[in-house]
Amino acid sequence: MNTYILKNDEQTGPYDDETILAGLQSGAFSYTDYAWREGMAEWQFLNMLYPQPPAVAAPAPVPPVIPVAAPSGRNQQPTLTCRTCGYGELVKRKKFRLSTPVVVIGYLFLIPSIVGMLIGCMLLFGSGLVGTAGGAAAEQQTRTELVAKGIPGPIINKVVAFESLTADETSALTPDQMSAVEEAKSSLAGSKLGAGAGALIGGTVSIALIISSFVGGLIGWLLVMKKKVLQCTQCSAVVAAS
Ligand SMILES: [Zn+2]
Repeated sequence: MNTYILKNDEQTGPYDDETILAGLQSGAFSYTDYAWREGMAEWQFLNMLYPQPPAVAAPAPVPPVIPVAAPSGRNQQPTLTCRTCGYGELVKRKKFRLSTPVVVIGYLFLIPSIVGMLIGCMLLFGSGLVGTAGGAAAEQQTRTELVAKGIPGPIINKVVAFESLTADETSALTPDQMSAVEEAKSSLAGSKLGAGAGALIGGTVSIALIISSFVGGLIGWLLVMKKKVLQCTQCSAVVAAS
């Protein structure tokens, strides 16, 4: 029988039975080397062809499927064979860089940060809208009050636009109307200031929220980053990807 041997990714042979049995005894071959001979569908462990003496425990019971290679191809090298178990294939995987608790902490940073940034953007947009709407509402209320006092429209327009009245316009107003105008001026100024301050505080808070969320998210992202490794399909040994 002409048998080929695949040992340490190197193929030798053909050998006859005597040579192989002698090699097994001397240690030149081992029962976990691969063997192939004419008519076999795939490489098998040597102990499938030459049963191992019962004194020694049998090696891996299930031989892996290895495609038959033409015996002529001498320096063919199986792509990325595992060096830990000797027969598993190494495949590319992505693994977390850091240990599981750290990755969990990373996600605890990352997820609220994304939510925080969204809320910050909404607040920023919202505080601008509220400021504008508040100013408009206050102006509308003042107009209604001044109309109720019988104050002429052109004067009301001047009051809400923060323009000063001429002497003629002032003298046309009754003392009651005058005090209503003064009151309207101060309340409009107050509401405008309030709306402006509100928008400013809202804007500052939302920008601070966005920035701190972004920083938190960055930290979280660093903690959950992955790296490329090679992992054995048989024994799960992990090797750093070159
Ligand atoms: Zn392996």
